[in-house]
Amino acid sequence: MHLNPEPMSASIKALLVKPGESKMLIGGQWVRASGGTTIPSIDPATGEMIAFIPDAQEADIDAAVSAAASAQIGWAETPPAVRAAILNRIADLVESNIDELSELESLDQGKPLYVARWAEIPGAIAQFRFFAGQAMAIEGKTITPSITYQPEGKRVEAWTLREPVGVVAAIVPWNSPVVLSAMKLAPALAAGCSIVLKPAEDTSLTALRLGELITEAGLPDGVLNIVTGRGAQAGALLAAHPGVDKVSFTGSTATGRAILNASKGNLKRVSLELGGKSPVILMGDADLDYAISGAANAIFFNAGQVCVAGSRSYVHASIYDRVVEGLAQYAQGMTMGHGLNSATQMGPLVSARQAERVAGFIEGAAREGASIVAGGKRTGPAGTFVSPTVIANVTRDMEIVRDEVFGPVLAVQKFEDVDEVVDAANDSIYGLAAGIWTESLSTAHRLSRRIKAGTVWINCHSMYDPSLPIGGIKQSGYGRDSGIEALDNYLETKTVCAVV
Ligand code: NAD
Repeated sequence: MHLNPEPMSASIKALLVKPGESKMLIGGQWVRASGGTTIPSIDPATGEMIAFIPDAQEADIDAAVSAAASAQIGWAETPPAVRAAILNRIADLVESNIDELSELESLDQGKPLYVARWAEIPGAIAQFRFFAGQAMAIEGKTITPSITYQPEGKRVEAWTLREPVGVVAAIVPWNSPVVLSAMKLAPALAAGCSIVLKPAEDTSLTALRLGELITEAGLPDGVLNIVTGRGAQAGALLAAHPGVDKVSFTGSTATGRAILNASKGNLKRVSLELGGKSPVILMGDADLDYAISGAANAIFFNAGQVCVAGSRSYVHASIYDRVVEGLAQYAQGMTMGHGLNSATQMGPLVSARQAERVAGFIEGAAREGASIVAGGKRTGPAGTFVSPTVIANVTRDMEIVRDEVFGPVLAVQKFEDVDEVVDAANDSIYGLAAGIWTESLSTAHRLSRRIKAGTVWINCHSMYDPSLPIGGIKQSGYGRDSGIEALDNYLETKTVCAVV
């Protein structure tokens, strides 16, 4: 294991603030939490405290929502081309600070630097550029109604306007804070909404830095507010706040339910990007060299802390032994270490709490009779590393096949025919994503229709692009981030009907 981080840039060190200095963004001002309390930010690889974030209280949430409400009308009336220019400037500033943001994301979350530098931060930049274009393409419809009771000589004309929903609370999880924030901020800003962003308490540092860059890009004060704090307090207060018109949430299914309950007071709009247990199906005709590394990467990327992680593999009986052996070799060959060490292929989990949870799932699988064919160990100075784990001899009723683990743990099952694998893959409360590996065009098309998921990847996995909607069905949530559909989260339709 390579535990030593390589030297960090000087600008990162300046961002790692002491308790008394940590601030969040409310109404264009960088302010401490009322009461002055903070939460430590931990380097998950070593367990060392690296910074502190404000622990937002009720007064801070009220102030942020009120600032967002005051700024929203002016932002909605800002010409779309001006909104687009600011979104493009945000993208440019994130791009020119990409090395620093990537290092900070790696340090705070634990992910290997290359994941942040080459996948996630570029993904965030792409979101701002895509929705800059969309800001200028929001349009309603003209409609010719068939209403017959208009006065003699008059006619009815009608049209729709697409208007911003208002103040948006964007609540995001700890696995990929920059890109998941961008997936909400970019369409919401394009639509003319104002925002209160709450990043997860374990990984708030890059969201705060993103806030500095967005302010520098010229976004008017109060249009984006960032509050940091604990989910049960800051998050819950925000989700229930009567001044919030919409909650856009990404996180666990359990918290999604709590948010839905909290939304009842003012019937605020809610979109939920929740958990998953995504099946990856390897048909007998799959190109095996490619498919084995694809299935391994689908689960081990970012240590499995990916909502769409391919955590259940279904392998045709004719190739099962070869695939299990190939997956085990892949897992055993991975180098674990500090995210900021260039040798690292897989970093720690975000916290000791998460690593303990993941280790509990592995122990549970062994107790239920499954075979751990690779990994299965929890290690590291802070107990946050879990080695890439492949589990065979599982059955569909086992917890390891049914529950979201959110760690580097793959459960592999054998199947004999297509109907059997479709039934097994769809036997889940989740429906976020799925992968199919086959050389048959016909099989790929047919299976992609039969699998119940928001996204189906064929001969690939975790392919994200701002043009591609992403989101779930069943208990993986509803609404879509990314793609033109994401704008629907932040727009209401107003009908105007006139007798002329
Ligand atoms: P989580 O649900 O615990 O927390 C997510 C966010 O919600 C955090 O900011 C947290 O502070 C806040 N929160 C917690 N309790 C809250 C409450 N009662 N009211 C309001 N806010 C509250 O999720 P997590 O553990 O941070 O992230 C892992 C989960 O996120 C996994 O289930 C994963 O599948 C899911 N996820 C989904 C997607 C997707 O696009 N579908 C993407 C990434 C992660």
